[in-house]
Amino acid sequence: MDTKLAVIAFGGNAISRAGQKGTIKEQIANVTETCGMLLPLLKRGYQLVIGHGNGPQVGNVMLQHEAGRKMFGLVQQPLDFCVSETQGSIGYLIEIGLRNLLKKENIQRDVVTLVTPVVVDQNDPMFANPTKPIGPYYSDNEVEELLQEGEALYKADPKGNGWRKVVVSPKPLRVGNIQLIEQLARTNYIVIAVGGGGIPVVENPDGQLHGIEAVIDKDLASALTAVEIGADEFYILTDVPHVYVHYNTPKQQALHTVTVSELKRYLSEGHFTEGSMAPKVRAAIYFTEHGGKKCIITEARALSGKETGTQIIKD
Ligand code: ADP
Ligand code: MG
Repeated sequence: MDTKLAVIAFGGNAISRAGQKGTIKEQIANVTETCGMLLPLLKRGYQLVIGHGNGPQVGNVMLQHEAGRKMFGLVQQPLDFCVSETQGSIGYLIEIGLRNLLKKENIQRDVVTLVTPVVVDQNDPMFANPTKPIGPYYSDNEVEELLQEGEALYKADPKGNGWRKVVVSPKPLRVGNIQLIEQLARTNYIVIAVGGGGIPVVENPDGQLHGIEAVIDKDLASALTAVEIGADEFYILTDVPHVYVHYNTPKQQALHTVTVSELKRYLSEGHFTEGSMAPKVRAAIYFTEHGGKKCIITEARALSGKETGTQIIKD
């Protein structure tokens, strides 16, 4: 059997679900269910790197820091620090889900979570235009106070829920520890890395790294990881079974097999929402154009049965 190396990007659904409180029990149950979907790949001996999102979780961590400052005078830590916290906690949950699954199935594999910084370019054009809303919602009064404290940018939520901090979402350039990620994966460790898209850091001309207030898209960071380690396959697992054109309209149509140039055309025609499906489509295009052999966007459930979803292929 020739061994395949795959990168799997877990969507938010893998960890937290709408309508749940987010207790540890719920989170473990969600993660266990998602990990179970990887069984067909594990049984075929796939080497795996798992990336994951952290949207709701990093929002909660930010709230905890803020509450700590207001109630106990603790220092409120910046966003890069909060992302690192979620890499650890979500990695822990996925490790538990995987380890229990492997034990039950009698598969001898080890699991490791890596804290992963991802270098972005300080001159990324995105810095001129912060677009990504993160963390809690604030009232007019709260936002006025916050504006006096720091230089963060806040924008009114279009749905009228108040104000939210907006940060830049720069393009991932370099994944920290990338050789180690590959080495561990190719020696059969299941590696959990680039959580939340990675901890955003910039590199000064003298090579010194420092964290910044930004978030990196997890689908793009996972795609970069997949290309850099020479992965054969890339799966983006989310909460819809397919990518659709005319999404949420009477003309909605699922894409089954789609070429890169067709996808680029649909992208330019605006079929994919920015911040949700568009980055997945860009990630799939990037992987396929950089030597990836197989790329699928689907829901986790689809892996366990007959393979469905949207497969992206070269022209
Ligand atoms: P994840 O946590 O998996 O990254 P996102 O919410 O970011 O999840 O992205 C998945 C969502 O993208 C779907 O739930 C769907 O509502 C939305 N979406 C937007 N445009 C499309 C489209 N054209 N086809 C399928 N889903 C779409
Ligand atoms: Mg997303």
